[in-house]
Amino acid sequence: MSSTTILGIEGTAWNLSAAIVNESDVVAEVTHTYRPPTGGIHPREAAQHHARYASQVIRDLLDEAKQHGVTTGDIDAIAFSQGPGLGPCLRTVATAARMLALSLNIPLVGVNHCIAHIEVGKWKTPSSDPVVLYVSGANSQVLAYRMGKYRVFGETLDIGIGNAFDKFARNAGLTHPGGPKIEEYAKNATEYIPLPYVVKGMDFSFSGLSTAATDALKRASIEDVCYSFQETAFAMLVEVTERALAHTGKNEVLLAGGVGANMRLREMLDIMCDDRGASFYVPEKRFMGDNGAMIAYLGLLMLESGTVTDIDRSHVNPNFRPDDVDVTWIDGTIDEKLEGGN
Ligand code: AMP
Ligand code: MG
Repeated sequence: MSSTTILGIEGTAWNLSAAIVNESDVVAEVTHTYRPPTGGIHPREAAQHHARYASQVIRDLLDEAKQHGVTTGDIDAIAFSQGPGLGPCLRTVATAARMLALSLNIPLVGVNHCIAHIEVGKWKTPSSDPVVLYVSGANSQVLAYRMGKYRVFGETLDIGIGNAFDKFARNAGLTHPGGPKIEEYAKNATEYIPLPYVVKGMDFSFSGLSTAATDALKRASIEDVCYSFQETAFAMLVEVTERALAHTGKNEVLLAGGVGANMRLREMLDIMCDDRGASFYVPEKRFMGDNGAMIAYLGLLMLESGTVTDIDRSHVNPNFRPDDVDVTWIDGTIDEKLEGGN
């Protein structure tokens, strides 16, 4: 039995990851991560890393797939992250994807990275029509499907929550990535330090909070500051997610993105969902951070619903918004069912 099979490549930031998926599962996945020796991610250096390792990653991927009985002849399309992300990284990965599609003579599918996080989460959990909290290094958004698009209900007005953590961590002398270290320190806190809670309408802002947390290190322990930073930032995210649930009438929350690894954030979302009678879904960790499987899987959904990307329209878009994408793979009557059920 043949199933649609897609090779997808992710490389919007520090993770270069390629995977082959079919309708039922991930066949193979190979990842090579850029780790800055000091400081944060330098876009050009990350892109050079991706350029250096792209052919090795693809070769290893094809070897691994072969062991599972899948060869290049089985691949129906090449999917790649068209954005959002760091320009130099996106361009490197797009070049590799175009080359592969041309040499295998199969279609190219440019996918939106944020939507890939959502769809892989829906694939790998029982969630079907969630409000999504997508929290990563560069992105922080609350999204949900409505009338043909993933609508952004709330988002950061400046930097992503992960970058806010990483920036603070760097100032505190911790190495990149800072998020996991902050979570560890927070466990040993004794006191909550008030920090700026910034929610404007349905949007939030983390830049000032990160600066205020750095400043608080002058008068409080790193444990207390890490704890207070987390509590404040997560309360902001949970508040907006809860309001999106109320507004849309949906009854599921799906967590996506690398910051979703944080157990305290999960606990807070779980309590909120419990209070509202909503289900809370978290995919396995390998599907939460940036991964090639999510790009391949969204490519599969797009190809099967008739969406491909011509080479001359395959330019990258560092500011690619999820609400710019026409969702061709979801049955639009999902909205009517929701309204009927209310
Ligand atoms: P992504 O951009 O989706 O690959 O996610 C990377 C971001 O997740 C970085 O900013 C990390 O600091 C952050 N992160 C990873 N693990 C945790 C954690 N346990 N708590 C908070 N942030 C985390
Ligand atoms: Mg991401």
